[in-house]
Amino acid sequence: MDIKFTNLERMAPGVGAGLLLEYDGRRLLLDCGYDDSQPFGGTWSSLGIPAAAIHAVVLSHGHLGHSGLLPVLVREGFRGKVYCTAECSSVATFSMRETALSQEPKQCWATKKLQQAPEPIYRDSEVDACEPFFARCRCHEPVALDEYATAEFFEAGHGPGSAFVKIELRRGNSKTRLLYVGDVGAAGNDLDSGPVIGDSYDHLFLPAFTPVRHKAGKAEEKLAGIIKRACKAGGNVLIPVSSIDRRDAILQMIQGISEAPEMPGVFVFLDSPVAGKQCEEFPLTPGKTKTYCCLRPVDTDESSKMLNSITGTVVIIAGSGKGGYGRIGFHLKKNAARPESAIVLFGAQSDRALDQALRGGGTLCVFGEEVEVNARICRLDDPFVHLDAGAAIQWLGRMKPQPHVHITHGGQQTKARFSRALRKAGIQNVHVPPAGERVAL
Ligand SMILES: [Zn+2]
Repeated sequence: MDIKFTNLERMAPGVGAGLLLEYDGRRLLLDCGYDDSQPFGGTWSSLGIPAAAIHAVVLSHGHLGHSGLLPVLVREGFRGKVYCTAECSSVATFSMRETALSQEPKQCWATKKLQQAPEPIYRDSEVDACEPFFARCRCHEPVALDEYATAEFFEAGHGPGSAFVKIELRRGNSKTRLLYVGDVGAAGNDLDSGPVIGDSYDHLFLPAFTPVRHKAGKAEEKLAGIIKRACKAGGNVLIPVSSIDRRDAILQMIQGISEAPEMPGVFVFLDSPVAGKQCEEFPLTPGKTKTYCCLRPVDTDESSKMLNSITGTVVIIAGSGKGGYGRIGFHLKKNAARPESAIVLFGAQSDRALDQALRGGGTLCVFGEEVEVNARICRLDDPFVHLDAGAAIQWLGRMKPQPHVHITHGGQQTKARFSRALRKAGIQNVHVPPAGERVAL
């Protein structure tokens, strides 16, 4: 069977994880991500992929970087099905809705005076329009995508509903087996399960794994110190989060440190236009202790602004799109100039407007006003524990026979580093396909 694939990631500004698979006149899209570090001003047609010509989409997980261009695809005429787990469809919908609502011009805090906020990439109603296309699948149950292809989902341990996908393409006697991996968590994944490792694959599509350097517990310790200091000084702790990706991991961390008897009690707020609905569907579980029992979702702009009139220390986990969007703006305006407050940045946020502004020091432009930055800026390791590169290499080493490995997701440098590590470990047939280039399998 004649099979071709194109890696779409970074093919144009704003295009996140995505792989176009072509076989027998069919076009299947694996992930449909939006990289919100850059505005996506294009269309699917401008990428040379008319949306109506794509017959199905398979999503690995609901993070924006893997699902966020779906409303654009539907707007341009995609009418196929979007196969994913049920929880993935919820997470994707929350991520996309938050993006739509956060990109409303009033939420764009990083614009200079008189500068117009850019148009949102899509609106709330366009997120609703995606709903009828979701085909919710269970893990470990193969589904037919068309007459040639079946997909089977396995747990990826990378947040609710995350999965990786085994794809089998059959035509007559020819059979091609692919494994598509979006992102994988260090624990709770099915990588070593019999149906995955016991199978033989022709091609693997993988993210660039990196060595996990930080020790578990170190970030918790630092965060505990930051909260204690803010309580003592009477300031607040702001935690900007891009979309909802890191919410659970950060909350778990806060919950963990709240168990320590010396921790002061503080209110923790989750501030995003989708927080209420999100907490209904994925309930927040307050800790056993009295501290942090007031974990509250904050839905409306008004209640978000009200948070700043609370006296005493609060921890605010607020939505922050990568281009200077989101509720975090309200809180920066009130807190950035206060030396008693802290702004905690988790993980690599190098391309965000906020991160760049804070790195620059001095002042921050918030809703057209220059605000002096006196708050403590704290950078902590990403709470997401991805699968370690070493563990990924060991896992690959167990695959017999060795499949072709295509590293399709991640930064250029991390891809190059991971491919070198693979070759060093004796794994041959490693490719890093350039963005937008059509490759025959
Ligand atoms: Zn992810």
